Amino acid sequence: MIVKTRFAPSPTGNLHIGGARTALFNYLFAKKNKGIFVLRIEDTDIERSKEIYVEDILNGLKWLGIEWDEGPYFQKERMEIYRDYAYRLLSNGYAYRCYCTPEEVEEKRRVALKEGKKPSYDRTCRDRKDHPEGRPYAIRFKAPLSGEVIFDDMIRGRITFSCDELDDLVILRSDNTPTYNFTVVVDDASMGITHIIRGDDHINNTPRQILIYRALDLEIPQFAHVPLIHGKDRTRLSKRHGATSLLEYRDEGFMPEALMNYLARLGWAYGDQEVFSKEELIDKFDLSHVGKSPSIFDMDKLLWLNGHYIKTLPEDVVAERLKPFLAMKGITIDDEVERKVPLVLKPLKERAKTLKEMADMALFFFQDDFPYDIKAKDKFLTPGNLGILDSFLKGFEALTSLNETEQKRLIERIMGEFNKKAVDVIQPIRVALSGKDISPGIFEVITILGRDAVIKRIKRAIDEIRA
Ligand code: GLU
Repeated sequence: MIVKTRFAPSPTGNLHIGGARTALFNYLFAKKNKGIFVLRIEDTDIERSKEIYVEDILNGLKWLGIEWDEGPYFQKERMEIYRDYAYRLLSNGYAYRCYCTPEEVEEKRRVALKEGKKPSYDRTCRDRKDHPEGRPYAIRFKAPLSGEVIFDDMIRGRITFSCDELDDLVILRSDNTPTYNFTVVVDDASMGITHIIRGDDHINNTPRQILIYRALDLEIPQFAHVPLIHGKDRTRLSKRHGATSLLEYRDEGFMPEALMNYLARLGWAYGDQEVFSKEELIDKFDLSHVGKSPSIFDMDKLLWLNGHYIKTLPEDVVAERLKPFLAMKGITIDDEVERKVPLVLKPLKERAKTLKEMADMALFFFQDDFPYDIKAKDKFLTPGNLGILDSFLKGFEALTSLNETEQKRLIERIMGEFNKKAVDVIQPIRVALSGKDISPGIFEVITILGRDAVIKRIKRAIDEIRA
């Protein structure tokens, strides 16, 4: 048997964190088992499905590093197939024509609810023998009236549903469009899907789908229902908890490696190991270590992992990814910027948790006319420090080399001249060069900026104090 999994999103919204994790679990399970991963877009809901969401889903998966082997299939292009299958069920007696109008069905629901009964369809047309000419009809599945549907979920274990909980589902509406529980069975079966891994919000659909498999005499796949993702307050993850759309994380400066790593660990564990490369995930992933209770989305852990990947991925990779964030801050990526980015990366990669944060930290390297941090300016760019800056400027202009020993010697000389500690000499210089009172090491800053920029910035600070 060749393992075949699928991710089957409805393009009625952006690819969110939960969907991305479902896709990842299906992908990892397929790859681990040398199988095939299928992408299928479930776009039968014409009203709510949008092309921009299809784009978002495809781009999100690509960004994350999930490649599909087959597809994307689009359900919209397969309508004839579903109709065929619906009529097949009709002719073998597993379905029937329902002539009740939507208004009648709604009325029946209302009455049932009022009488405290389950609001299911009352099966008026189930045994109807006549076929009123020209009247529109829906096709309903004939669910068994008694018995149980039992399946062994790969995560949740044995699950039993009693048939009297199940309704006679509409499988083809009177406008000839098929419904979800039906299309999903036709597709999963005809695409040869062996394992269905999906959110456990679908668990109630599974018995209905199993009955359709049986009626069509199709092989029933294995099911694995993954617990949902909750926020820290243990309610279902939503906008209230922060960004929920995958590509928002890209735009906030997260690394796809970090997201993949984080999403894999969200619900799945491998001892207490936290850091996994994609190859390692493929090697180690298995459904038996997916937990049964909801996973809690932990932003701090994601930030920690992101920082880890910023620190450890090859510098040229990080540099490439940093550039768009610099561009977004208004930096033109010219040769000079290209030259500086790898240098800037070295001190910043140890401290930045996201690329966006790194771009913020790096900005002053690329702009001589940055705004000063008000507090830093008030504290260090003072008339009392004018002498230090003046002396540094003269000494710096006279340096024949920018190496660290020369720089150190200069600072020490000024310390002696003004009888000050290193920090008292360095802080005004730091604010003059970076606008802030925290920056990478001062010698590193000077070296990266280069002679002209240093002179320009010290002069600017002196002017600022005099003004
Ligand atoms: N299209 C369904 C959804 O987006 C998923 C169907 C399934 O995985 O069975 O919720």
